[in-house]
Amino acid sequence: PLTAGIVGLPNVGKSTLFNAITKAGAEAANYPFATIDPNVGVVEVPDYRLTRLTELVSPKKTVPTTFEFTDIAGIVKGASKGEGLGNKFLANIRQVDAICHVVRCFEDDNIIHVEGKVDPISDIETINLELVLADLESVEKRYTRVSKVARTKDKEAVAELAVLDKIKPVLEAGKSARSIEFTEDEEKTVKSLFLLTTKPVLYVANVSEDQVADTENDELVNQVRKFAAEENAEVNVICARIEEEIAELEDEEKELFLEELGIEESGLDKLIRSAYNLLGLGTYFTAGVQEVRAWTFKKGMKAPQTAGIIHSDFERGFIRAETISYEDFDKYESEHAAKEAGRMRSEGKEYVVKDGDIMLFRFNV
Ligand code: GDP
Repeated sequence: PLTAGIVGLPNVGKSTLFNAITKAGAEAANYPFATIDPNVGVVEVPDYRLTRLTELVSPKKTVPTTFEFTDIAGIVKGASKGEGLGNKFLANIRQVDAICHVVRCFEDDNIIHVEGKVDPISDIETINLELVLADLESVEKRYTRVSKVARTKDKEAVAELAVLDKIKPVLEAGKSARSIEFTEDEEKTVKSLFLLTTKPVLYVANVSEDQVADTENDELVNQVRKFAAEENAEVNVICARIEEEIAELEDEEKELFLEELGIEESGLDKLIRSAYNLLGLGTYFTAGVQEVRAWTFKKGMKAPQTAGIIHSDFERGFIRAETISYEDFDKYESEHAAKEAGRMRSEGKEYVVKDGDIMLFRFNV
């Protein structure tokens, strides 16, 4: 499954956030095949639609879908110089599909800041710089190799060189490659470089208990917002300490606690959804009396592929998918009523599944 890596300088609240994630963790009973890697935290994806479908169908069992966060260990500063733990840091980032970059926005004299003062932008730039330098090294290596071949007028090499020429100056200016727009053909070359700074990123502004109720006018958080906007990246504001405390509470207690603090929704729940969207993931549902269940798919997938997520036989023998949109299911309150109203569609092999679709797959065995 796709995973988002939690990255940040020391003492910004990464472990606190990761603890919250593992405490909130998905019930192992539902996910016997979940990884047992201690650096991976599996959480359930909160979804009000699943709650509503459960209410309507009254199944024996409800199963949410899950999402994985990876705690990225290793030393950040000087990582690109490639020694021991620094190297591990970069290797770990290379393996994740998106980056959750935790930034310290809380003032607390008791907690030492590695750079001496709380300065979120400088923190972000410290990490980004290591990633940029590592990418620059990859690009330069490739450049040397490809430019030799390009001299023989090899078409592919010439095209590849053009892409490298596009990326290199941006990295040399200290900027991430994600700010560059590539054509579909160029994308192929870019993919083959396995760059770190093309991975989608979201910033997690970690604030204190006192700041969390009103973050609109928070000076430090706004600095992060401004920086992120320039990269078209999203910002999630969170108080990692509170999340750690509420991660173990039952839903009702959790709501009361958040209400007292003046917070609408748990920051972790929001973060899970943001990371899920960042990776281009969507959810479809199956809704039977035995089980109502949410399934994760990659947006853009066609019906047979999404059927294959449940079982490869469903994909191989796919005939069609009886489909109701969530809005219709919610409105007509049952599969039967939606069908009577003509809101159940019979979709074929070319159907691109939409977020929220409720699907019943027909297949040959
Ligand atoms: P890491 O080095 O990035 O993993 O940081 P930690 O999670 O170990 O946090 C460093 C220190 O900051 C710990 O003492 C935490 O209790 C504290 N801390 C983390 N998050 C918060 C927060 O939201 N509010 C406050 N006040 N302190 C926090």
